[in-house]
Amino acid sequence: MKNQTFYRPRIGSVSLSVITGLYLVLFTNRTFWGKIHTYLATTPTAVAALYLAISVLFVAFVTAFSAKYVIKPALIFLILSAALAAWFTDTFGVIVDPDMIRNAMETTPAEAHHLITPGFLLHVLLFAIIPIALILWVRVVHRPVLKKLLWNSVTIVGCLTVFGTVAGAYSKDYSAAIRQHRDIVKSLNPVTPIVSATRYFLQAGKEARLVVKPLGTDARVVPVVNLNKPRVTIIIAGETARAMNFSLGGYGRDTNPELRKRDVIYFPHTTSCGTATATSIPCMFSQFTRANFTHAKGLENEGLMDVLAHAGVDVTWFDNNTGSKGAAARIRYVDLANSTDPRFCSDGECQDGIFLDKLDDWLNGVTKDSVLVLHQIGSHGPAYYLRYPEEFRKFGPECETAELANCKDDEIVNAYDNSILYTDHFIATVIDKLKARSDKIAAGLIYMSDHGESLGEKGLYLHGTPYFLAPEEQTHVPFLLWLDPDFTASMALDKACLAQSTNEQTSHDNLFHSVLGMMNVTTSVHDSKLDVFAGCRAGRTS
Ligand SMILES: [Zn+2]
Repeated sequence: MKNQTFYRPRIGSVSLSVITGLYLVLFTNRTFWGKIHTYLATTPTAVAALYLAISVLFVAFVTAFSAKYVIKPALIFLILSAALAAWFTDTFGVIVDPDMIRNAMETTPAEAHHLITPGFLLHVLLFAIIPIALILWVRVVHRPVLKKLLWNSVTIVGCLTVFGTVAGAYSKDYSAAIRQHRDIVKSLNPVTPIVSATRYFLQAGKEARLVVKPLGTDARVVPVVNLNKPRVTIIIAGETARAMNFSLGGYGRDTNPELRKRDVIYFPHTTSCGTATATSIPCMFSQFTRANFTHAKGLENEGLMDVLAHAGVDVTWFDNNTGSKGAAARIRYVDLANSTDPRFCSDGECQDGIFLDKLDDWLNGVTKDSVLVLHQIGSHGPAYYLRYPEEFRKFGPECETAELANCKDDEIVNAYDNSILYTDHFIATVIDKLKARSDKIAAGLIYMSDHGESLGEKGLYLHGTPYFLAPEEQTHVPFLLWLDPDFTASMALDKACLAQSTNEQTSHDNLFHSVLGMMNVTTSVHDSKLDVFAGCRAGRTS
């Protein structure tokens, strides 16, 4: 056997570096070059020069790894990173920033499963596995060490000189385009995914060593005179619902047939803190505003649920999503996403109906002032069609695959709207359960979605676009309230006044302070300016 050898072509290490560099530039950067051709359409010579500049820059970079034992692993890593990122960038318009890496790290197997489509596998075969197989196949020829150092240096310096000359000649065009379109540089593969992953892991390392600071330990509930039953607030943390598809906010299709009949107060001008669950959820439940929030601050400070607990309110979190992102780290937490109830669950994930029996049990057990969070799966994509039961297939034809590229945009919107219709039903059902117990509890409900979704507008799909680039579709979210008469009275709230105030701009910044307001909690960390109720209550100023 030993004498039989495969035919393995021989190739010089620098030649292999040059080929790989060019491959990365030309085959894993469709989105990047598409943007360049659009943004620099008026100066074709600048476009041509940029192909040269980026190519020599990549060749210089790859050549730096041209050494024995290093070259193959390095090239394989670069190709794999670039090919994987290219799929998400080219297919969904996704920018692979550190937040996107966090989303990927915190995703569930079921969610990941929806992204592994035939199209994805074919892409990985063509753009990663075949080139990697070729690299493994060839025999790389290395020069003796000193000669190699010299030859690598000459190649790198030569490339960088060409890069400097070309980039310098067109620097005005390039810097103007980059200033105007900050998404250009962020779609360059594999630079963006590698830089983002490095930044994510450095940050995650720091966050792992954080010590949580207590918050609002002075909190207490102001007792309500003449109320002989517990006060209950349900917070429904929505998922991927965007305001423009809520008929309560003026959408042309009737996606809110049930809530329309439930006397809810809808805030049509609400913006999210982030464009992804991993940012929005911890931000919503923290005392920080969007302007002040960072992921690390969210983790190192107690949040809304902790302040409520300090006030003596019973707090619980039911999750049918990817977890509370730290918001429920110190309170009772029930994971429903891994349930196996065949009425609602299949393939490792559940529709939001999974909450309802558990909610009944919880409501029946209420003995004191309580807050319960229901963290929905809502309209999580790309498999919108899996989010609702058969009865909610109202808008059709629906996109019935996670491979969005195989559906027309209106089919994607149909499936998405059906998922909103089901969320409408879900919220209305929770309201009805509260109403049915009005002899035993005084109840309020608050619903707020974590972020919106792109459904093909501006060529974008899904969500997670960096906030400064994010379109309104991803940041304009539905927010609504429902309060029963006793709960309203227990807040000394003028509901007509509150309904009037909904014309004002609201955001995730309001959740923390408004829930404290709803539960009649006083504490030094409550900011009445951010409490949507504060201006419409008699007799209380904070
Ligand atoms: Zn989300």
